[in-house]
Amino acid sequence: MNSSQLSQIVDRLGQIRQTLPPNVKLIAVTKQVPAEVMRLAYEAGIRDFGENRIQEAESKQEQLKDLDVTWHLIGHLQSNKAAKALEHFHWIHSVDSLKLAQRLHQILDQRAESSPHQPIQKPKICLQVKLLPDPNKFGWSAPELLSDLPLLDQCTNLNIVGLMSIPPLGLEPDATLSVFTQTRDLAEKIRQQHCAHIQMQELSMGMSGDYPLAVQAGATLIRLGRTLFGDRA
Ligand SMILES: *Cc1c(COP(=O)(O)O)cnc(C)c1O
Repeated sequence: MNSSQLSQIVDRLGQIRQTLPPNVKLIAVTKQVPAEVMRLAYEAGIRDFGENRIQEAESKQEQLKDLDVTWHLIGHLQSNKAAKALEHFHWIHSVDSLKLAQRLHQILDQRAESSPHQPIQKPKICLQVKLLPDPNKFGWSAPELLSDLPLLDQCTNLNIVGLMSIPPLGLEPDATLSVFTQTRDLAEKIRQQHCAHIQMQELSMGMSGDYPLAVQAGATLIRLGRTLFGDRA
């Protein structure tokens, strides 16, 4: 990374921000991006970083612990790493099964029991949905999620705030937009169920290749990697 790469990131950020409504949060996806470059992105005004692997995130958090960063987990989370994820992230976008949600709830229960006077950190959680079949992705279909809602609502320790959605690769723009609007409509449907412990104000959707469509459909969080940092190896 040199100063011209930094000014590229700054320029790109400026261009993208101009096109975003003020309520849309931009998350810089920094998988495979070294901590030094993330530090420069921070200097350029980024405060939200998205990582898909806990181990990689841990190491960068250690290197960047002097910065005031909000950390987002955006990749698939295995149940055996759920406790770590709760410690290391302010947001988990990729809660993709009832089993994982229940595991996270249970860990938070145990923590509350073992140290009743300590406030426990509770990350904001998005439920990952898969509205078209996609063998490469995890997540609920719309009917599955609607039928799991009562049990999810019993995970009272979880701070569920919205949905996360990733369209399959290679769709036409129309079809991609349709996945995003279906995600928005599903969030609305869930809101109408009036679950006591589930909020639905956030929509985490849109990546480098499709974020304008996601914003058009009502995204509140977009997750951008390549368009800020260049192609990954
Ligand atoms: C890698 C990744 C992104 C960013 O993708 P780009 O195409 O680099 O913008 C967003 N969300 C998830 C879940 C990812 O894994």
